[in-house]
Formats: sequence, structure tokens, C-alpha cells
Amino acid sequence: MPAEILVLGGGVGGSRTANLLARQLPAGSARVRVVDATGLHVYQPGFLYLAFGQANGGWLARDLRSLLRRDVGLIVDRARRIDTDAKVVHLEQEGPVGYDHLVIATGSHLDHASVPGLTQGAHGFYSLKDAERLREELRAFQGGTVIVGIAGMPYKCPPAPVEFVLLLEEYLRKRGVRDRTTIKFLSPLNRVFTIESASQMVAPIFEQKGIELHTFVNIESVDPDKRQVLSLEGETFDYDLAVLVPPHRGADVITASGLGDRGGWLPTDRHSLRVEGVDDVYAIGDCTDLPISKSGSTAHYEAHPIVEQIVAAVEGRAPEPKKARYEGQVMCFFEMGDRKATIIRFDYDHPPGPPKPSVVWHLAKWGFNRAYWYFVPRGIF
Ligand SMILES: Cc1cc2nc3c(=O)[nH]c(=O)nc-3n(C[C@H](O)[C@H](O)[C@H](O)COP(=O)(O)OP(=O)(O)OC[C@H]3O[C@@H](n4cnc5c(N)ncnc54)[C@H](O)[C@@H]3O)c2cc1C
Repeated sequence: MPAEILVLGGGVGGSRTANLLARQLPAGSARVRVVDATGLHVYQPGFLYLAFGQANGGWLARDLRSLLRRDVGLIVDRARRIDTDAKVVHLEQEGPVGYDHLVIATGSHLDHASVPGLTQGAHGFYSLKDAERLREELRAFQGGTVIVGIAGMPYKCPPAPVEFVLLLEEYLRKRGVRDRTTIKFLSPLNRVFTIESASQMVAPIFEQKGIELHTFVNIESVDPDKRQVLSLEGETFDYDLAVLVPPHRGADVITASGLGDRGGWLPTDRHSLRVEGVDDVYAIGDCTDLPISKSGSTAHYEAHPIVEQIVAAVEGRAPEPKKARYEGQVMCFFEMGDRKATIIRFDYDHPPGPPKPSVVWHLAKWGFNRAYWYFVPRGIF
């Protein structure tokens, strides 16, 4: 009997893992299927450009089927509950589906409702819909106070709000409304964002570009009528335009299955990426509780050790220790505005030392944006 391998979620982690598995497993030894709630694969880093009219929605979302190998099955359905004792996933339409090996790749989900007033009072760029709405708002913006902030930790792609504010500064300057605009960046931390070396690089750039940095601001609520952002620390920030990153949560299916922590994140072994306390279940990408960036690049690297462990199990051999171990690798390009960018590379043992911003990394990021569809979800690069 071929082994049944089920991958929940067809985003970066899920599509890449499924394609790599199908390529590496001996013919006829297993059936690999992906379950995805939408049947679409979305390139989320593009939301950043969409907000400034530099990308369109069609470029950012593709039919998931077109990114999966022919020998990977696709079920477009929503997983409702995982029964790890019976090794069954309950799908909304199809009902129970059994597995021998399960990979959970259900990403992170925006929880606008957990901050009172956020939905009514603030814009965002963390979903396709929000980024499209923000693009229209920015086109019409004629000056005032703009607040860019983070309304809850953890959130995916820690550099993205910083990239956004730097691109916003350039956008407003080029539109001729910068001198009528005050830009404030609200960070819940004691620095710009999570990565210390990159924050040290960014702080003087903020100063030079006249972006106000407000640290230790934990956003509690938004008052859409008074146009104010209120913090847990008792501060009030008036705004004409607020762009906030909503708090994130793990997928409902994780909580409904009793597998997650309070935030709905899966307790995951940092090297093997096995979900702790259950057999034959792996977690990849945003859905883990690992203390590293929730980013596509994290999912990209995590796919390989998971694939090695599952292929070894199907082949009845021990996994190759080096190949089966995730070392915390992450690599992200980081836009700095004015056609400059840097790159952040690190792992569990080596903190990042980003190089001086340059046009080279900006071009590399754009090259990657284009090449993504051909290589990353397909597991080719
Ligand atoms: C504005 C922005 C900029 C970013 N920039 C970068 C960047 O420059 N570099 C970088 O590396 N990362 C970046 N990211 C982060 C990156 O997009 C995510 O971290 C990455 O997509 C996570 O991959 P994933 O596979 O875990 O989840 P996702 O890609 O989000 O995929 C999850 C999939 O699971 C499916 N799903 C969810 N629940 C269920 C269910 N119950 N049943 C079935 N299917 C389900 C969804 O439909 C979805 O297809 C950015 C994100 C944003 C929002």
C-alpha cells in the first residue's frame, strides 16, 4: 500500500513540501495530496508594492493547481479538525481523510477584531483586499499625519512594516505631499523591529528621512471617530491616516484540534520540525511556535528537513542527520526606499549582519519577485 501523505495548506511551505516530496519519493511508494481552502497561491510580499500601485492583484495570486506537479493531488476544501490519534483530518466538504504522514502548513491569520476600532479606523497592507483599499486611499491622500504601526506580536515578515514606511516616505515625496505630512512609526519594542542589527541600520535612515520613531507603543485600540490610536501605556496618537499590522493567530483548525498554544501556534521541535507530543505530524512556515521570523523564506528552508524525514520513513531507512535538521535559516531582502535595499541572512547560531543598503539588493529583490513563481513553490530552487 502506498503511504498517504497529506499537506494542509498550499502556500509557500505546503506547495514546496508537496512538490519536493513527489520528486524525491520512489515511484508508487506514496500518494501526496495538498488540501487548501482557496485553491489559490498568493505571493504576499507583493502586497507591499500593490499598496503603492507598483503591482496588481493578478500578478500576486495564481491557481494552486498550476504550481503543483501532476503527481501531487489537490483537494480544494477547508480542514476543520485533525484527529492525531485516528490519523484523520476532517474536511468541511469531503469529510474524513486519513494520513500516514501529515504536514501542517496553514500559515498565520489576521485577527483585526482583537483590537477594538482597528477594522473601522485603520488601513493595512497585510491582505490583498486591504492593500488594494490602501492603494486608493494613498492616491487620494493630500497630507496630514500618517501612523504606521504594529498592533500585536508576533506578526509575519518583521521587516515589512519598516519597508512600508520607507517606501511610503519616498512615495509621498514623489507625489509632492511629503512636506505636508508627518510620518510616525509605532513599534511595540525598544527599537524599530525585532532584528537588532537591522534596527541599528534603520534608525539613522528614519532620522535622515524625518520619520518619527515611537518605541514601546503597544496598541490597545483605535478610535475611528476621533481618529486616534491609543496605547496600553496611556499614549494617544492623532492621525489622518493609520496603517496598522493587525495581530496574527494560527489557523482555527489548530485550535479546534486542541493542538495549539494560546495564539493557535503549533508547539514545534526547532530542528526536526515535528509537532511535539504527536506522531508523524510536521509543522512548517508561519503556523509553528518557533522564535524565528514568520516568513516565506523560513518556510522555504524548513521544507527540506521535513521532506528528508518523510522520504526516509517511506523508504524504511534512517534519515540523513544533516539533511533532516533545520538550523533556523532565514534570508530576506529588505527594501529601504529610493531604489536601495539590504539583505538579512541568519540562522539559530549566527545573527544577521546586513550589508550597507544598495541598488544591487533592490534589483535582487525585484528579480526574486519575478523568479518566485518558477522556483519557490515548485521546489526547484
Ligand atoms: C506584506 C507582506 C510582506 C511579506 N514579505 C515577505 C518577504 O519579503 N520575504 C518573506 O520571506 N516573507 C514575506 N512575507 C511573509 C510570507 O508571505 C509568509 O510568511 C508565508 O506566506 C508563510 O508561508 P506559509 O506556507 O506558512 O503560509 P501561507 O503562504 O500563508 O499559506 C497558508 C495556506 O494555508 C491555507 N489554509 C489555511 N487554513 C486552512 C485550512 N483550515 N484548511 C485548508 N487550507 C488552509 C491557506 O488557504 C493558504 O493557502 C510577507 C508577508 C506580507 C503580508
